[in-house]
Amino acid sequence: MGSQSELGLDSNANTPKDEYPRWLSSGDNSAVGTPTREDAPQDTNGEFWPRDQQQKTATYDYAFEKSMSHAEAKLFYQHHQLASQSGEREKEKETTGTGPVPVSPVPTNGSMVESEDHDHFMSSSIRSRGSSMLQDGEWNPTSQSQASGDGAQQPNSAQIAAELAARNQTPFSAAQSPHIAASESLSGSGLNGAGLSGPGLHGTGLGIGVSGSNGVAPAGDVVSSELSAIYRKIQGLLERRAKYIELSLQRPEDDPRNQPDWNLYPPPPEPAWDDGKEYQPGNAGGPSDFTEKKKRKMGEDIGEDFDLEELMPVPGPSDWSYRLDRNSVYQVYESEEAEEPAVHIPSLRDFYMDLDAVVDVSTDGPAKSFAFKRLSYLEGKYQLYTLLNEYQEVADSKKVPHRDFYNVRKVDTHVHHSACMNQKHLLRFIKSKMRKSPDEVVLFRDGKHLTLREVFESIKLTAYDLSIDTLDMHAHTDSFHRFDKFNLKYNPVGESRLREIFLKTDNYIKGRYLAEITKEVISDLESSKYQMVEWRISIYGRSPHEWDKLAAWVVDNKLFSPNVRWLIQVPRLYDVYKSSGMMENFEQVITNVFQPLFEVTKDPSTHPKLHIFLQRVVGFDSVDDESKTERRFYRKYPIPRDWDTKQNPPYSYWIYFMFANIASLNNWRKRRGFNTFVLRPHCGEAGDPDHLAVGFLACHSISHGILLRKVPLLQYLYYLDQIGIAMSPLSNNALFLTYDKNPCASFFKRGLNVSLSTDDPLQFAFTKEPLIEEYSVAAQIYKFSAVDMCELAKHSVDQSGFEIALKKRWLGSNCDVKGVDGNNVAKSNVPDIREVFRFETLAAELSLIERYAQGAVDERSALAPGLLHTAQQASVKSAK
Ligand SMILES: [Zn+2]
Repeated sequence: MGSQSELGLDSNANTPKDEYPRWLSSGDNSAVGTPTREDAPQDTNGEFWPRDQQQKTATYDYAFEKSMSHAEAKLFYQHHQLASQSGEREKEKETTGTGPVPVSPVPTNGSMVESEDHDHFMSSSIRSRGSSMLQDGEWNPTSQSQASGDGAQQPNSAQIAAELAARNQTPFSAAQSPHIAASESLSGSGLNGAGLSGPGLHGTGLGIGVSGSNGVAPAGDVVSSELSAIYRKIQGLLERRAKYIELSLQRPEDDPRNQPDWNLYPPPPEPAWDDGKEYQPGNAGGPSDFTEKKKRKMGEDIGEDFDLEELMPVPGPSDWSYRLDRNSVYQVYESEEAEEPAVHIPSLRDFYMDLDAVVDVSTDGPAKSFAFKRLSYLEGKYQLYTLLNEYQEVADSKKVPHRDFYNVRKVDTHVHHSACMNQKHLLRFIKSKMRKSPDEVVLFRDGKHLTLREVFESIKLTAYDLSIDTLDMHAHTDSFHRFDKFNLKYNPVGESRLREIFLKTDNYIKGRYLAEITKEVISDLESSKYQMVEWRISIYGRSPHEWDKLAAWVVDNKLFSPNVRWLIQVPRLYDVYKSSGMMENFEQVITNVFQPLFEVTKDPSTHPKLHIFLQRVVGFDSVDDESKTERRFYRKYPIPRDWDTKQNPPYSYWIYFMFANIASLNNWRKRRGFNTFVLRPHCGEAGDPDHLAVGFLACHSISHGILLRKVPLLQYLYYLDQIGIAMSPLSNNALFLTYDKNPCASFFKRGLNVSLSTDDPLQFAFTKEPLIEEYSVAAQIYKFSAVDMCELAKHSVDQSGFEIALKKRWLGSNCDVKGVDGNNVAKSNVPDIREVFRFETLAAELSLIERYAQGAVDERSALAPGLLHTAQQASVKSAK
């Protein structure tokens, strides 16, 4: 492509001037050092008094600097507009309607180099980045020596580009046309180029394809077979994960809850604004479906629109049956007599073999450095993107009426229910209980019934004494790396009996206090309208009756709200139960947790309340202190029935048995039209990074994941599969990792699917809106823009387990479509340009994998047969 002067275009011709403040359009003139003022005093001969000048300098310099940076960004933007528009024209000539899809509308290096002087540093940095990418293919000493042996192959990107272009290598057709036909590689990645066809989105890819469409080095000739091997390994791991997720029905489309005929009960509030036009008639979740319903004002009378009778009768029994197999995995059968399970669940051995494969690759040196480079590249690419498109993004989001960060939907994807209120709230609640009902019997301990007054007398406290300080539940100074201390923070005033009374669902008062305070929190959430939560509530696995008690607590107290969904957290406390003599072996934990779920799936009428509660449960969590050491006592782990030592099974072992049983359960539930569950454990908060490999293999998404910063390959895999990570930097700051070191911001820039969550508002938050506090601190420390915040909020809705009907209300009716077609800027407030960038970047990475994992080797040997050692050729063949 020629420079802009060759094209004979005025640099302003294609600029949407009206999108810029007026002073910007004279940006070039602002380069004059001392601005003049029309009303400047005449007796100074057109100059200021020195005193005045002094005073103004700071201001003017500031404005000058600002205008310069704006002018630069504007220039980049214009170049880019030019480049992509002319490219667009070429493309229109070349292609018919459904023609190739641009992976990245790339302006060539040429146009940048030939532009303004100050572009120089940019283009050279781009070049150096390009050539550093080139090193990717070269970290292997073998290939390096080959490359240097063949003098022409030195990493001069321009030469190589020219050479390859001459050979008609695909990436470098970009040198002639900025658009890369990548549809064939995209279709293979399952993305089908959806979303790349958005109109008027030139510019998103500006600066992306510095040395080829995908930012990958002009690798054709110098790429070593090792690089292909790495890509093959990565692809292999992604396939393994896909197998596990598919088998256990953890994909969104597997869940009957995400089908159009799913009945949301109680119905969500009707949209207040013009959201109604989003709905098609017959679309579940549309207001027409609920018009006949009596309405409850959101924020008031929590649960009053819930009537158990309306959900009766529950469905009848199923013909299928289930049995616990020898390895403590429930298997489902299509009939009582069937001998082969309906689903083939991978055995513990299979699981550990797959896990070993993931760990092997993630600790493999070359793969690690490869992933590290890809991640650095992704981060750099994002920085370049924001540099060039910041103003466009701001302009785009300003155009959206009504919507701003405060009224986009945000889901708190990770909150523990027993810590869901803030401290002030809990304090107020305790005080009011002491004032209003001091003589209520609340506790039975040591053979005695105790009233609330007696309890407080026994701990020598009055209502007047109580303050946030005496409550002492805040964990931000003294619990760093002390999870044990943190756990004690759940006890108000350090008293476990207060925890028992106020924060437990299963106590003498049947959890009534906790239910009351929960309703108050729900009321706050509903009033805020845009904040949703997924509360984690415990099932310990100590007794099979826990489920019924929990379900009765939720149903009897009518804790139902369109703003709330539940996750079940299973604490990994087998060692505690065992040492207190509560159980014999690990299998008992499994049966206590899962037996009732299979019973209720077989015949909901056996546990009707549980059946109804489960409709609001989106998945399972596994919680405990990950930093505890996991010593490997056994060469080969015994089956749960034989696990009768006091040793707690390791993280991977716990997760496997949750995974295996959920997989069986889900297959049955889906068959019955009941909602399914996903696995969203705490993972990678501390401890062994191998936990993250488990999360990658078998889990829908994870919480924390901060250790991904130490395992680049896994981080790259989490990126490629867009595995959700609910991060809580404030919680990490108090427990494991100071805020400034938290990788949240860099994960976000690289394009990982991160959301912000509060973890434990009771321990960490200071304000009434903990989730906003989390966003606000992140915005301040990481300098997130409004667009970034909205993107995080959008991720949180995506990751959450809310029904698709609700998600469509919140994000637009296409929110399940990938890429820009799924983005409704009027709902999400995320500019299309950002979505296109994210999608193209991901599609490019995936298509690289596709290409190099399969065809690259043949292509290369065809291109430069002389470069291959025979030995290498042999190894390539044997690997295939
Ligand atoms: Zn947590």
